[in-house]
Amino acid sequence: MFRPSSRTAGLALSQIVRISEAAARMRAEGRDVLALSTGEPDLPTPTPVCDAASRAMAEGRTRYTPTAGTPELRRAIAATAGFAAEPAQVVVSTGAKQVLANIFLATLDAGCEVVLPTPCWSSYNDIVALAEGRPVEVACGPEQGFKITSAQLEAAITSRTRWVLLNSPSNPSGALYTANEFAALARVLERHPHVWIASDEIYAHLSYVPFTSFRNAAPGLADRTIVISGVSKSYSMTGWRIGWGIGPEPLVNAMVAVQGQVTSGACSIAQAAAVEALTGDQGLLAERLSLFRARRDRVVAALNAIPGIACAVPDGAFYVFPECHGLLGRTAPDGTRIETDTDLCEWLLATEGLALVPGSAFGLPGHLRLSYAYSDADLADGCARLIRAATTLT
Ligand code: PLP
Repeated sequence: MFRPSSRTAGLALSQIVRISEAAARMRAEGRDVLALSTGEPDLPTPTPVCDAASRAMAEGRTRYTPTAGTPELRRAIAATAGFAAEPAQVVVSTGAKQVLANIFLATLDAGCEVVLPTPCWSSYNDIVALAEGRPVEVACGPEQGFKITSAQLEAAITSRTRWVLLNSPSNPSGALYTANEFAALARVLERHPHVWIASDEIYAHLSYVPFTSFRNAAPGLADRTIVISGVSKSYSMTGWRIGWGIGPEPLVNAMVAVQGQVTSGACSIAQAAAVEALTGDQGLLAERLSLFRARRDRVVAALNAIPGIACAVPDGAFYVFPECHGLLGRTAPDGTRIETDTDLCEWLLATEGLALVPGSAFGLPGHLRLSYAYSDADLADGCARLIRAATTLT
């Protein structure tokens, strides 16, 4: 009989993936399904980036790469980090997700704690658990802008805490920490030298208000801070699987050692493409940002026109995370009772073919996550489906 390890026994497909797969199954059955559930830009990978990949193939750059990444890409990452960084402090991995896995596999012993301001990306919990760590969720609701306060951080830290994992701008809330807010957290962390900081800044280029890296807000903590980023979101390169960490060399070396036994260096062609993404014309970032901002504004306005839904304007990323308490405890025309955000999402998928992710997938029930990394037509259609469904609830 198959017996999973205790390490993997609790791992399940994430709710986001389950919803996206259910939507795909329904579509394959001929249903009219609209998914606004995935954090993946609808825009294409820029042509110069694809051309750089073609050149890499034509030139035979198709062999194993150094485990930590090609020298060209590590240099490009260090040079564009936005803070002082040496190529030796950079590790390139197969997506930012692998960077996170490397961090925790390299540093956690069983029972070590990782503080997770919640709501947060669902994989954080699973990756920490896979590394046998203990996620310590700290509830950060809309009343505090979905951000952890200094007092909450202070209260969450114990002698077993190894990491606090911050995410700005945030998936799912779009919350962005100001320089002052990061500096206030840094003052707490200065008092706890055993706690390291992982700052996931993969949505940095998708900031509608000034962005500050934790590294710049807290330079005094540089020797225990790792910044995580990648090309997936900003450059529409989700499938190329290139992410990186920039942190102290001893940590980077430990992560490289883990990666060396799991995947080795990331794809040579994708790394060449990522060099072009980082060093080529950056004009497209501003163009895309204004496109996403316009989408955000339209979606927020449409959602706030729905009785029962309240949506704050997020400062970054490409998600809105409205409250849906006003739609809960109600009944659909077919008698379905909508008690929770998960009930609501299941019913929306069944009745309107609309795939959204419940806030409970991110640790904060009573919310919905809608990704606006979709075309204007899809977003208008999605909002129309939501309004149609919501107005039938009694
Ligand atoms: N970090 C956050 C906050 C994310 O939302 C995601 C993807 O959804 C990732 C990391 C993973 O990015 P990648 O595609 O580079 O693995």
